[in-house]
Amino acid sequence: MDVTANLAEIQQNIRQACENGNRSPEEITLIGVTKYVTIERTEETINAGVKNLGENRLEGFQEKYEHFKDKAKWHFIGTLQSRKVKDVIDKLEAIHSLDRLSLAKEINKRANKRIDCFVQVNVSGEGSKHGLEPGGVLSFIKEMAAYENIHVVGLMTMAPHSDNETYLRDIFKKLASLRDAVKQEKLAHAPCEFLSMGMSNDYEIAIEEGATHIRVGSKLVGEVRE
Ligand SMILES: *Cc1c(COP(=O)(O)O)cnc(C)c1O
Repeated sequence: MDVTANLAEIQQNIRQACENGNRSPEEITLIGVTKYVTIERTEETINAGVKNLGENRLEGFQEKYEHFKDKAKWHFIGTLQSRKVKDVIDKLEAIHSLDRLSLAKEINKRANKRIDCFVQVNVSGEGSKHGLEPGGVLSFIKEMAAYENIHVVGLMTMAPHSDNETYLRDIFKKLASLRDAVKQEKLAHAPCEFLSMGMSNDYEIAIEEGATHIRVGSKLVGEVRE
């Protein structure tokens, strides 16, 4: 399938999920995850109208950034080694994987401007070892006040791959209520309005539960590996 056809289907599903969840499609940012695909397929994605792209590895990001520069807004969605921060940080629209103090310190030191960050949370406790424990999120975010270049705009999670809708819904509900708790603190450095959750397998459920940023790879661009 070409990206345009996939995108049309995804947009239809987004509209439906918004209707189900009493939300407006304008609240949703679709991040096209191009980590699986070539420059050509990425170009097709941009031309189809997807302006926000996600990469999870430094090399993939750098290759595509060099090619497309500001033709897209770049979201870093994977583990970022602290010593690589200086190479990427000022090129990003947002980083979705802030999960440790050492990374925050490095971002703060290397960035030339305030960086929009999502704090990654390991809600499920399964699968990926990345992300903070839910219980540690609020105190971590409060600590971020010491770093003037860190702007905590939201929380991010990756749900395990599962067909169990109740289970997935529960994970997204937990992240949403954690976001509400942080937002309630009204921290100047951490408005924490956004929820980056939902991938190809579960983005409709995530939207019903409040996602503002969905990260869709395989269902949008396919999985043609480079
Ligand atoms: C790969 C990846 C995605 C997209 O996954 P799909 O299932 O292909 O949609 C989303 N978020 C993160 C953090 C990823 O690494």
